[in-house]
Amino acid sequence: MSDRINLNMVENGLDFILKSLQTIDKSDEDLKYSLINLHAGIQLLLKEILYQEHWVLIFQKIENADNEKLLSGDFLSVNHDTLIKRLQNISGINFDENLLKKMDWLRKERNKTEHYQFVVTANVLKSNIVKLFTYLLPFIKSEMIDVNYIEADNERFVEIQEYLNEFDEYVRERLEMVQVDINKIELILPCPVCIQKTVEFIDEFDAFCHFCGGNIDNFREKYIDNFVDSYTHVSDGGEGPLYECPDCDMETFLCIGGNQYICLSCGARPIQDELTTCPGPRCNEKIVYRRYGDKDGVSFCDTCMDYFEHA
Ligand SMILES: [Zn+2]
Ligand SMILES: [Zn+2]
Ligand SMILES: [Zn+2]
Repeated sequence: MSDRINLNMVENGLDFILKSLQTIDKSDEDLKYSLINLHAGIQLLLKEILYQEHWVLIFQKIENADNEKLLSGDFLSVNHDTLIKRLQNISGINFDENLLKKMDWLRKERNKTEHYQFVVTANVLKSNIVKLFTYLLPFIKSEMIDVNYIEADNERFVEIQEYLNEFDEYVRERLEMVQVDINKIELILPCPVCIQKTVEFIDEFDAFCHFCGGNIDNFREKYIDNFVDSYTHVSDGGEGPLYECPDCDMETFLCIGGNQYICLSCGARPIQDELTTCPGPRCNEKIVYRRYGDKDGVSFCDTCMDYFEHA
């Protein structure tokens, strides 16, 4: 410990995070810097944990680790993926799945600021940041404060928490404001932009988020990107969670919990009881509507019906 160089990663990290939160509240500031600083700040905090484990671990290539480079700062430090992997495998840190997801969201949004024209509102940022910190704060407490990498009364850390409380209150107030409209909606979907459950979904061209206060462009793609975890399902050996729609045949049909299904393209929203799978020979158990008044009978998809008729 005594021979360890103080890289100031904790203070710099907290400073970046604080700057990020301050930026959101100043309407004349470019919000992209808020994302960039937030990401940088969190990366620095995570790197500090790795650094405490062993200093060579913050080099992307451990074989290039060198005390002089460390001092000068002239080296390639761990990228996000390696950082997370080393924290898991070497430091034995058990990340909450939700925290990893929110950090992934942040990384993606941050990367977008480099390549695309950036359009995000302070509303949306506050909502996402509140969610992210719901998972990040307990992490910082258990992995950094309890082990004295950060003092509990660290000034910047205290100020960060004050900002978050303010944002939290703001988000709750906004949710309360739109609650009357939300209550009128029959089927509500979560919004891939603000992450609140406030979307009135009609079909792929008409998805209005009451929290964001507007229609969400490319809702279908964004929804799948954010909420449909096809990778996990496939790697678990299961089927992807997206099925072919019995109405429009697009592969955008999914169960959104309970026995409610919805198609993110055409907006069809049957319940489980109205559906069954085709037992025919030409498809892979395609989901079809049950035939009316025939609860125990079989229903075939168009492809299989066509096959029978022409066989
Ligand atoms: Zn929204
Ligand atoms: Zn459909
Ligand atoms: Zn079939």
